[in-house]
Amino acid sequence: MFIDNQLYGFLEMAAILCNIKEGDEVIMPSYTFVSTANAFVLRGAKIVFIDSQPDHPGMDAEKIEELITIRTRIIVPVHYAGIACDMDKIMALAKKYNLFVVEDAAQSIDSYYISPNTGEKKVLGSIGHIGCFSFHETKNIQCGEGGMIVLNSDDFFQRAEILWEKGTNRAAFFRGEVDKYSWVDIGSSFLQSDLLAAFLYSQLENINAIQEKRKNIWTYYYTELKNLEDDGLVKLPVLSKTSTNNGHLFYMVLNSNSERNEFIQFMRKNGVYVTFHYQSLHKSSYFLQKEELKKLNFAEYYSNNLIRLPLYFEVEVEQQNYIINKIYSFYRKTRTFN
Ligand SMILES: *Cc1c(COP(=O)(O)O)cnc(C)c1O
Repeated sequence: MFIDNQLYGFLEMAAILCNIKEGDEVIMPSYTFVSTANAFVLRGAKIVFIDSQPDHPGMDAEKIEELITIRTRIIVPVHYAGIACDMDKIMALAKKYNLFVVEDAAQSIDSYYISPNTGEKKVLGSIGHIGCFSFHETKNIQCGEGGMIVLNSDDFFQRAEILWEKGTNRAAFFRGEVDKYSWVDIGSSFLQSDLLAAFLYSQLENINAIQEKRKNIWTYYYTELKNLEDDGLVKLPVLSKTSTNNGHLFYMVLNSNSERNEFIQFMRKNGVYVTFHYQSLHKSSYFLQKEELKKLNFAEYYSNNLIRLPLYFEVEVEQQNYIINKIYSFYRKTRTFN
């Protein structure tokens, strides 16, 4: 395990560890942050985007196999909102076609996959060959910029140590295994600053309190907004039997893009900063310079209609009540807290 200045750096390290070369193909969801793709593009990979699930923004594992070709090297499951992808299926495909699995666990610290086949509970980010976590300021555990890579093999570990040491065998030198250190491989400056590491350390010491608070905020939104879902006005996150929920983000899916725009404006006018995110990468101008446009209906659906409500450690119940009341007023329904 290494701690880094950002997860992005570690996805790049993952791409190097998997020996990604020009023309290799990497399968990942279109509905994700651009860093997931950049790390592999920097090594010359061709990105093959996959659609979201109908009832969840995460990748639709049922559609992976049809995208696998002779050039496919890696599958990158992104555990959106800390909700696990179908890891049994993904690991089985990786085995069948001899592929690597690099989990983008940026959003999924302290969340678990519950295997529908064995009932076993596994930490997200520890199931694939490599897992990459983020400690960016928007994540549950944060230090401004930071990340962590988790490696499931000694070979990866040995090479990662060299990449980490800027392409030298300095770590072996310090252990007394070689009498001088020299340039033995490519490498980069992945190190995190001491100050950020200290900040991160105290966040990690408080992980239980942070997680409890975030999950409470999440559950309160869910319970209080359920009426709107029952009335068909919005869709709330679908609770999954194969995943725990780590309270990373709370989203709602609105009924149309124009309604979403009105909603965002209404909330901002009332002092509540709600946001959307992830313009589907398969429709990005950069990607379309190289690839043809294909249609990924659900990725586009979430790009157009999903919003996120404020969810961070400092949010208090009174603020949540205010936000929830404003959401009900937008839908012209009454819901007043005492
Ligand atoms: C935040 C995030 C990243 C980027 O993490 P950094 O630490 O900012 O590099 C990548 N992928 C996903 C899914 C994210 O949510």
